[in-house]
Amino acid sequence: MLLERFLRYVRIDSQANEASTSYPSTPGQLAMGRLLVQELHAIGAGDAVQDEHGIVWATLPATQSKNSPVIAWIAHVDTSPETTAHGVNPIVHRDYRGDDIALPGEPTKVIRVADHPELLTCLGKTLVTTDGTTLLGADDKAGIAVIMQAAEYLLAHPEIPRGAIRICFTCDEEIGRGVDHVDLQKLGAHVGYTLDGGGVAEIDGETFSADLAVITFTGVNIHPAIAKGRMINAVRLAGAFLERMPWQALSPETTDEREGFLHPYRVEGGVASVTLRILLRDFETAKLAEKARLLQNIAFLLAVEHPGSKIDVKVTPQYRNMADGLAREPRAIDFAEAAMKRIGLKPRRTVVRGGTDGSRLTELGLPTPNLSCGEHNLHSPLEWTCLEEMEIAVRVLVELAQIWGEAQG
Ligand SMILES: [Zn+2]
Repeated sequence: MLLERFLRYVRIDSQANEASTSYPSTPGQLAMGRLLVQELHAIGAGDAVQDEHGIVWATLPATQSKNSPVIAWIAHVDTSPETTAHGVNPIVHRDYRGDDIALPGEPTKVIRVADHPELLTCLGKTLVTTDGTTLLGADDKAGIAVIMQAAEYLLAHPEIPRGAIRICFTCDEEIGRGVDHVDLQKLGAHVGYTLDGGGVAEIDGETFSADLAVITFTGVNIHPAIAKGRMINAVRLAGAFLERMPWQALSPETTDEREGFLHPYRVEGGVASVTLRILLRDFETAKLAEKARLLQNIAFLLAVEHPGSKIDVKVTPQYRNMADGLAREPRAIDFAEAAMKRIGLKPRRTVVRGGTDGSRLTELGLPTPNLSCGEHNLHSPLEWTCLEEMEIAVRVLVELAQIWGEAQG
């Protein structure tokens, strides 16, 4: 059953670790992948394997002779590093009545309807939350559970006409390494769908374009007793840098919809050296360069004001807005809409203020929109999911398989 499947997956700590240089970044992801391979074999996906990178591959062979396009279903096994995933204790709330949800493990953690009005779309339904001490990991174990459930259903129903479906469970999506080892040749699909979206009946066809800036402040450390005129404190340099960033206009906490931002999210170091990491995000790729220049200008001026210091700004690309790539295969989104309509949903095309594996896959040539699978409050101890929304996502995949089965190459 879908609920048991989901609960089984979230209890495995497969959190990604950005500080790790191995692939995948944590052994928990390998354990998660091993379990999925076993379960894929058990439901009849005989070719399921975990490759040397920890990525899980499987095929649902076509049930018809007609040569329809191969589609891929993709989800990531890792969870966000932002909240611990150790000892996830999922709590099932049946027949939700519309109240605030107090999480029993941590008195300060309450999912309030006032803050999260989408709870009211789930009246009478089954919700799953954490106990307040960890994240839930519905991002993206909801997606994995949905794909597994749809695969089980289709393998048990060979009379449903459809083309071949490839399944790919990736690692380290949350730290921007999700498709580093995904070989599109090996995947062999015409379009892909990531199952990694919020709520129900949404199709994400546009994402941020994203760069990462790593800023290194090098000061001069010396014993405070004899520091006068000699010490240059990198902690103060970093503080001054942050002060000068236009956060009121350009922060995640002050922007929404189609506005971009600069998001300092980690600072490490001491007097001699500090490293500051900043996310650059915009829907228009060209505007990322403007944001990078802004950081470089602040760094330049600050270094001039503090002779003897060194401030290095290194910007690396992360992923790009998927809208351009999707324009090459409009059926990717059109068919997802059709699948939702067939089961009576009103699909909505949405814009993601973030990225998914699909952003980079689309960039690499595989049009890959992202579909809803019941995720809410991602990366937070207040994360929750709705079982019925996951069930709907399963039905959408089953319809989608048939719609692509009716199509020509
Ligand atoms: Zn995700």
